[in-house]
Amino acid sequence: MTVSTAAADQTVCQPLSVLGRDVRVPLVTGGEVEYAALDYAASAPALQRVWDDVAAYAPYYGSVHRGAGYLSQLSTDLFEKARVEVAEFLDCRESDELLFTRSTTDSLNLLAACLPAGCRVFVFETEHHASLLPWRGAEVTHLDAPRTPAEAVTTLERALAAREPHGPALVCVTGASNVTGEIWPVRELAEVAHAHGARIVLDAAQLAPHHPVSVQELDVDWVAFSGHKLYAPFGSGVLAGRSDWLEEAEPYLAGGGASRSVSRREDGGVDVVWHGGAARHEAGSPNVIGAYAIASACKALTEAGFDSLVARERQLVERVRAGLADIPGVTVLSLFGEAAERVGVLSFVVSGWNSSHFAAALSAEYGIGVRDGLFCAHPLVRTLLGSTAEAPGECGAPEGAAGEQSLNAIRVSFGAGTPDEHVERFLGAVRELVTDGARWTYRTEGGRCVPAV
Ligand code: PLP
Repeated sequence: MTVSTAAADQTVCQPLSVLGRDVRVPLVTGGEVEYAALDYAASAPALQRVWDDVAAYAPYYGSVHRGAGYLSQLSTDLFEKARVEVAEFLDCRESDELLFTRSTTDSLNLLAACLPAGCRVFVFETEHHASLLPWRGAEVTHLDAPRTPAEAVTTLERALAAREPHGPALVCVTGASNVTGEIWPVRELAEVAHAHGARIVLDAAQLAPHHPVSVQELDVDWVAFSGHKLYAPFGSGVLAGRSDWLEEAEPYLAGGGASRSVSRREDGGVDVVWHGGAARHEAGSPNVIGAYAIASACKALTEAGFDSLVARERQLVERVRAGLADIPGVTVLSLFGEAAERVGVLSFVVSGWNSSHFAAALSAEYGIGVRDGLFCAHPLVRTLLGSTAEAPGECGAPEGAAGEQSLNAIRVSFGAGTPDEHVERFLGAVRELVTDGARWTYRTEGGRCVPAV
């Protein structure tokens, strides 16, 4: 994807108002501190605006699609309006379908269930498991991790050119890595896919919360994302894109809402006529609040202005990268190198530290919430760490000599609601832990590193 450089000249906005900003958490060392949520890549806090919109709508909540009552009709209108608004946010084509799902994982599994017979799927080993694994019914070509965006394009081009027979094909690619935050050349990959008669689905779980995503500009066939990473944590996700494969497939879920008519046959069986359109794959009672919340978040981000949001996040990314580069023994993981465009997601290892131990100390001693592990992208993190080991080591006292291979990593991630103070506290804490060590002792419990008391 070619990301707009216009953001560099934009006015930087203030952090958007999110829930949980004033929550205080206890420290093992005594006292308490305002929680620094730096795990946006897993789940971002709700935007205050989204919460307010949902609270204002909640008294009017009613059953969707089937009710005759006023509130049912109101809720149905809002649900369908949310569909249109999210499609506008994604700059979908007129002919595209937009489905509300549970999450990105659900969206990609839904698409996987709609692949035409004989479809071959091309996927880089660098993908999140949600985009790496759903294609179980298809022939899958796993592509090696590229070391530059240009190599990603040539790797895909070679693989598509070599495919035999020349049947239907789908490329699945992430927009921004949930491990490195690096942005992938989506537009260029789409061009190559289409030139070879393949289609492409964009996993925008980490891109959509940080960047405008235009289905038409990127020329992707489908896009998937999750509400809970886009400041709308009410259990909904989105799959949007071309309708033909969706229309030709069996409904993803069988049940009410997806069925137009059901009748008994003379032989005692049941005949079903399924709906077309979005209803075909949205059986059961839809999550109207989840859909409404996503539409509200889309409006809030659009109104805040993506250019200034991107500009602010870029400043935070640069601050964190520069700060970590200045701390001895810290290595930031990267596939594409220095020049890569990034969103606010960075993973790193600290020489001589078990990453779980380090993350536990950031939480218990500084009130900072990050993530540790392999981030549901095991092949990618293992490639970046140069490790093939299955399990991370036990935590306890800092272990491993300087230079010893790390088996898992620490991820810090942030976004539109992150104040500068959280980033500064994080950098100060990393420096202090590296220099002075943890002030508390930790042990492993249920596979997690926790304070010993
Ligand atoms: N794709 C990417 C790039 C992700 O980072 C994630 C979650 O972290 C997913 C897909 C899956 O999202 P969800 O858990 O909301 O289904």
